[in-house]
Amino acid sequence: MPPTALARTSHSTIVSAPGSGADRLHPTVVPPPVGRFHAGRRVDNRPESLPQWRVSSTSSEVAIAVGRLLGGTAAVGDQTAEVLTTSHVVRVILDGPHSISTEMRLWGPKGVLHHCDGARFLTPAKVQGTPCGCPDSAKERVALAKVLRAPQPETTVTFRLADHYSLGWFEFSSPSRMLADEAGDIRTKLSSVVGEALCELSLDLVTVTVAGSADVSFRRPRLNVIGPWS
Ligand SMILES: [Zn+2]
Repeated sequence: MPPTALARTSHSTIVSAPGSGADRLHPTVVPPPVGRFHAGRRVDNRPESLPQWRVSSTSSEVAIAVGRLLGGTAAVGDQTAEVLTTSHVVRVILDGPHSISTEMRLWGPKGVLHHCDGARFLTPAKVQGTPCGCPDSAKERVALAKVLRAPQPETTVTFRLADHYSLGWFEFSSPSRMLADEAGDIRTKLSSVVGEALCELSLDLVTVTVAGSADVSFRRPRLNVIGPWS
């Protein structure tokens, strides 16, 4: 039986269904995630990226099941459990284009100064839906971020595990600009898939040359849409 304790105790997230206005009157209720995927961890209060997925959950059953699928031994605490897996790639099922979303936030000393989806304000309510003034292209956004403080992206992906569908929904949130810039294309590909889509979520090693100096390698999250899940 899939663990549902978290689902019973947490808030549900309501996601507007894609498509017509009539669809939006009947939103799809997505249960809260049973676990979260992470591309790093904190060591001595400092962030450290990881070459393989780390998965946290409030359910020891979920962490143990993930360890069986992706390798690694679950560490079970009083309230939380986590597993440092041995996998950098996982097959996942997404339920459509609404399963990946990007929000941009610029923080000030008193809280959020700018909160948008890259084109329109998401909050506060009085300006919600109006153009926010952020640049259209990824190139322009990077240029702006270099000269002044610009909103930072956070991309959230909601998915099931293809090899353990009934375990429940998982979530992965990332500040990666690369993933944020690709999110629109990913949503377009998901729109062309009828029903749920089989995808691959991976931590890919990339190497870039910084201003003619030494090569810098880092891991970046990538989501590849493979095709319909049937
Ligand atoms: Zn904006």
